[in-house]
Parts: sequence; structure tokens; C-alpha cells
Amino acid sequence: MPVADAHAQVTVFRMPTFTLVGSGAVRANPRRGGTCQALRCAGETLVIDQGRGAVQGLKNCGFDLARIDTVFLSHLHFDHVCDLAQLILLSWVYGRTHRLAIYGPPGTREFLEKGVREAYAMDIASRLSHGKDPAGMEWDVTEIAREGAFRSTPQYEAQALFTEHGHLPNINFRFELDGKRIVVTSDTEPSPRLVEFCRGAELLCVECSGTREFLAAREWGAWHMNPQTVAELASKAGVKRVVLKHLVIEDWSEDPEICAKLGAQVRAGFGGEVFVGHDGLALEV
Ligand SMILES: [Zn+2]
Ligand SMILES: [Zn+2]
Repeated sequence: MPVADAHAQVTVFRMPTFTLVGSGAVRANPRRGGTCQALRCAGETLVIDQGRGAVQGLKNCGFDLARIDTVFLSHLHFDHVCDLAQLILLSWVYGRTHRLAIYGPPGTREFLEKGVREAYAMDIASRLSHGKDPAGMEWDVTEIAREGAFRSTPQYEAQALFTEHGHLPNINFRFELDGKRIVVTSDTEPSPRLVEFCRGAELLCVECSGTREFLAAREWGAWHMNPQTVAELASKAGVKRVVLKHLVIEDWSEDPEICAKLGAQVRAGFGGEVFVGHDGLALEV
């Protein structure tokens, strides 16, 4: 059941709550921000990916930027990480003094050092000179090199699965919390291993970049999921609810109705609940 809508209001959320902050992909679609998801658990707010406009999206959804604790990065395509510097710097401006915990694929540490610390060195030095707490510009990076559980807290366990996508290290995330399973895919090719990873999930937030025909006509189309492969994944895995994201086809077609078609095609092959994602869609878990 949705508990909040796009550009919502600051809502008192029951936890845990999953929020699709940005439902779009690479191109500058005015109706959709780039990829970003958030999960509120007791005592922790974590975000997954930081695509175009993710920070503004988090604010629009009522998140307190200074209280974001943990960031997970699925892969280093720019449409998943281009707002990371903005998140680090702006949450610092908003008063964050704790170190961010950042989990991502191999390459994440160098990306942060070069793309944030070095790139913004003059800005950071300037802000430090008026007394900002340097702790806010520190982070703890964990590069995930192996599949399986990589983070355990009293609230949840986070697990990783690598799949093929774009010839770079690519991580799908699974969260086990309160006896429930939430899977947030990266961009990904279909894979039988992904079916096992999603087995019995309460919620599957999965990329659905375009129709089969749309993707078949593009050089990079085989790197992604379409409505038929999403439906097959969700059915075989026995998933309860599906949220479609990374809706590339709308970015290209600029047709605001096209994503409803994706949803209908998924429903044709999957009997569970299907949400065509939009920015700010929030679901209790
Ligand atoms: Zn992407
Ligand atoms: Zn990608």
C-alpha cells in the first residue's frame, strides 16, 4: 500500500519504508529523476544509487539530508552516481557530522577520492576555513568484491549478487529485515541466478528499461531487462510486489503513456502486484 506520493509532504512513515526516489535513467527526462532508492529502517536511513537529481528527489520526499547514514552504489555508470558529490557536500552543509558509510563495487574508493575529494578540494578547504566540522567530509568505503552478506545491523542484513551489465562490476542488493526480503536490482541482464536471489521477495524494485522491441533495436539493449524478462523473473521467484524503475524508454520517446504499456506487459506474465514506478512512490514493507 503506498503511503506517500510524488513530491510528497513530509510524512510520518511507518518503518521500514521503501521509497523510489528517482524512477528515470540516463537522459534528462523532466518527469523523472535519475536512479535513486531509499530505505528507512529504525535508526538508519540508507540510499541506493545517486543518479541525476537524486539529492533534490530525497529532499522532495521529505528526507533529512543530514541524517542519511549509508549509501549503496550498484555500479559506476554515471546515471547511478552523478549526484554522489552533491549528496556528500550538501548533507555536510545541512549539518551532517557523522561519517557516511559507502558500499559499492571495486573502483568506488578511487571514484570518491578523485570525483569528490580532489575535484572539490578548493570548495572543501574554503568551507573548512569557516569552521565546518571536517568529520562530515570523511567516509568509510567498503568495496564489495564478493557475493553474499556484506553488512549486518540489528535491523537488517545486506547481501550482494553480481550480474552482467555493461562490462563493469555490477551489484544487485538484497535486504533481509523483519523476516522480509527486499531486492533492489542494478541495471542487469536477465539471469537465472537473479531468480534465486529474488526468491520469495516481499518487494522487488527492478529495472525495466524498455519494451523488448525497443531494446532489441539498441546496441546496449541486451544489457537490460524488458517487461517479459521482468515478468519471468518475478513469477519464477515467487515475488509478491514489483516496482518498475530505470524507465529508459520514456526518456527516449518522451511519450508519457509509454510506461503504462510496460506495466501492462509485466502484468500479462506475472500475477502479483505491479507498480509502474514514479518519483516519490513509497511503500511500506
Ligand atoms: Zn542505468
Ligand atoms: Zn548501467
